[in-house]
Amino acid sequence: MPKHFNTIKRYLSDDEKRQRAEEYNEYAFDKVDVEAFIRKDIFDETIILKCLNCGFQEEVDYDIISEMWNEFQSDYPESYCANCNKPDVVPLDVYNRIKGLK
Ligand SMILES: [Zn+2]
Repeated sequence: MPKHFNTIKRYLSDDEKRQRAEEYNEYAFDKVDVEAFIRKDIFDETIILKCLNCGFQEEVDYDIISEMWNEFQSDYPESYCANCNKPDVVPLDVYNRIKGLK
């Protein structure tokens, strides 16, 4: 779990888990046990990112962010802004910390 910023976890309902498992099984070679899958805690994890330059804010899948982020190089992920193209997009918690210090 990252310690410099928070992520948002949304747990799936049983119906959502059933749907997800059944969709997976339509294409998968190794089928999952749907009932066992439903008994597990499954969640979607997202993160709110905000641009230090223009204030553009968006919520994105944390999977995508964690893949491009090297946590040994920086304390938090940074990316390019979809709105102003500056490399100033940081997690919302980091944004608030930086803006609060100024
Ligand atoms: Zn921006």
